[in-house]
Amino acid sequence: MADAAAPGQGMLESVLGAINLGTIVLDHAQRVVVWNRWMSQYSELSAERVVGQDFFALFPELGGKRIDSAVRQALRDNFPSVLSQTLHKAPFGLFVNAAAREAGERMQQAVAVTPLEVPGLARHCLIQITDVSVAVNRERLLRDQALELRSQTFSDGLTGIANRRHFDVAMDKEMRRAKRSGTPLSLLMIDIDFFKPYNDHYGHQQGDDTLIKVAHALAAMLQRPADLIARYGGEEFAVILPEMTAEHSQTLAEKMRERIAALAIPHAKAEQTDHVTVSIGLATHALENPSDIAVLLGEADRALYMAKAAGRNQVVRFS
Ligand code: GH3
Ligand code: MG
Ligand code: MG
Repeated sequence: MADAAAPGQGMLESVLGAINLGTIVLDHAQRVVVWNRWMSQYSELSAERVVGQDFFALFPELGGKRIDSAVRQALRDNFPSVLSQTLHKAPFGLFVNAAAREAGERMQQAVAVTPLEVPGLARHCLIQITDVSVAVNRERLLRDQALELRSQTFSDGLTGIANRRHFDVAMDKEMRRAKRSGTPLSLLMIDIDFFKPYNDHYGHQQGDDTLIKVAHALAAMLQRPADLIARYGGEEFAVILPEMTAEHSQTLAEKMRERIAALAIPHAKAEQTDHVTVSIGLATHALENPSDIAVLLGEADRALYMAKAAGRNQVVRFS
């Protein structure tokens, strides 16, 4: 009855063999004392091959790395360490299966190094390795999905430029910045001329293609990081130009109008021209002419209406 409660050596070995965790014990001279079955399975190195060997001679690539100092701190200073999973993703050459080994994709690892007091012997250390591949992959997937969703919420599905929501957020930010710093803020409203007849004549699909071409050509003309072009409505674009005076933005708007005409996209149903053109309305908030978002939008819209009324394919500045 005496030995019923005391787990013998055999029991400990069974546990070490069954445990779902890499388990290594090093003696004070950094020689491998324990190398469990999990380690053999994923490293393809048997216990017979490694036990008794100097750990850093077996794995020279670990020398000088974080695991090296962790082992030394454990043996010398009795100091435990947990290796940061994000900084040290896969220190050991462990592979979940043959295909991963073939592809060179290491198992993602969490590693803990713990000092181990062994009665009658100099201090040892225990290295525990956990497979965190599943958690890391799930985290990566979630992060990718979050990024994708975020970009979908702020960009227009057809043209890839900013959408109306993005415009609203940016406009709010830029108007507040303009008021704080006393700098001007210009706004362009751009609308494709005779686009309904274009669709009717060439079909909706080609209408979409032309919308994309116009959006990209306009976007390519913006050079400063804070400039923003958004799809404001169906075939209408809005451009936010922070710190740009009415004069400068009028020059830019004129270049944009010319650029679209120069694309020379055929338009058999346009009046006056035979290609696709745009009309542009422009309004500016400035110190001498303070405005707010709703007023600025209304002014740019009115200027656009005037450009249409005056024959289209032109820029009108609100005054
Ligand atoms: P105006 O010169 O006065 O601007 O005339 P317009 O025909 O361009 O103006 P209107 O606003 O009456 O028509 C806009 C048209 O734009 C309506 C629709 O056929 C087209 N449109 C709007 N959104 C899309 C879109 O996403 N794809 C396509 N293909 N056409 C669109
Ligand atoms: Mg139009
Ligand atoms: Mg329109």
